[in-house]
Amino acid sequence: MNKPIPYGRQNITEEDISAVVEVLKSDFLTQGPKILEFEQKFANYVGSKYAVAVSNGTTALHLSVLALGLKPKQKIITTPITFAASANSALYVGAEVEFADIDPDTALIDLKKVRKLLESSPKGSYSGLIPVDLAGCPVNMEEARKIADEFGLWILEDACHAPGGYFTNVAGEKSFCGNGRYADASVFSFHPVKHIACGEGGMITTNSAEVYEELLLLRTHGITKDSNRFRLSSEEIAQGGWYYEMQELGYNYRIPDILAALGVSQLNRANEGLARRREIAEKYDLAFSNQPQIKPLTTFKDYPGHAYHLYIIQTKDRKELYEKLKANSIYSQVHYIPLHLQPYYKSLGFKKGDFPLAEKYYEEALSIPMYPSLSDSEQDFVIQSILKD
Ligand SMILES: *Cc1c(COP(=O)(O)O)cnc(C)c1O
Repeated sequence: MNKPIPYGRQNITEEDISAVVEVLKSDFLTQGPKILEFEQKFANYVGSKYAVAVSNGTTALHLSVLALGLKPKQKIITTPITFAASANSALYVGAEVEFADIDPDTALIDLKKVRKLLESSPKGSYSGLIPVDLAGCPVNMEEARKIADEFGLWILEDACHAPGGYFTNVAGEKSFCGNGRYADASVFSFHPVKHIACGEGGMITTNSAEVYEELLLLRTHGITKDSNRFRLSSEEIAQGGWYYEMQELGYNYRIPDILAALGVSQLNRANEGLARRREIAEKYDLAFSNQPQIKPLTTFKDYPGHAYHLYIIQTKDRKELYEKLKANSIYSQVHYIPLHLQPYYKSLGFKKGDFPLAEKYYEEALSIPMYPSLSDSEQDFVIQSILKD
């Protein structure tokens, strides 16, 4: 029997291990210099002005909606084909979620439907848009920005699947996911199945100094030690080197230096990993190109900026294929069960039939193994297992 082949997995090297051990022997396990180093290197990687490292992708979303000013009862728009956290973040602050159905060609949120929803709603009904770069396929943020500006929305890009991904804008320039050019903020996750593994970890990128400062404050209890920002005067309260102020209701959403060091070390190999992901994708594209029963959701030829967190195929016999692969110790997965059909979201009033294209996509989608350390022979075995009767 072959060794199990998952749909995604981390790649940890001796270099990564030494980077972690070094921090363990240092003075700072958390709140030390590795955090800023990770942030600066990550901002540089995606091309944003600022980056804030946090404890995971979900807390990155939570802090972002807070920093963007989302308030109770306000509403955001997102896609039903995403991980629960993209939408849950709005519920955390007492806001409400609406979905726009997907574009069946990519399974990304259909921006035309977003526009329709906004046009058919009273002005000011929605505060924000949370598009998701599903599987690593970048949403066209330039188009999203146009709509957002027209209707007064902020954009929070969930780029958890897409570090290193890009789309090409009207001017013909590559615009990288999370570069802060069109979205007000973008979030990333460092869960082990994602491109960069920290175990747990997340990052928010933005080009707004104001959002950046707010994120820093909220990440650590709403407390600041920066004397330029103090609100009370030294006449009101005795101040000295010890003094700090809690100015808002924040959280402890910090990432420890131990994990930030792993992130830095992983980030050093991010381009290499991305190139390997694209190579794997091209080989799958070719293998399925004349197999009408297996349809890649998108191809590398059509989306050269795809970051390939996932390689998604669509097939009528999805369950049969899932079982057949499992019998060969190949563990595929489905991304995602439409969020509006989850019991919790149904309890909020959503029902089957609300987003028919998302529901149809779900019936046929399967994510097959995609990670840089997938060997050529393993990939051949996956392809053979998919294509044999
Ligand atoms: C992984 C993921 C998240 C959440 O990240 P965690 O680090 O697991 O909290 C959010 N959105 C999407 C699209 C994700 O894939």
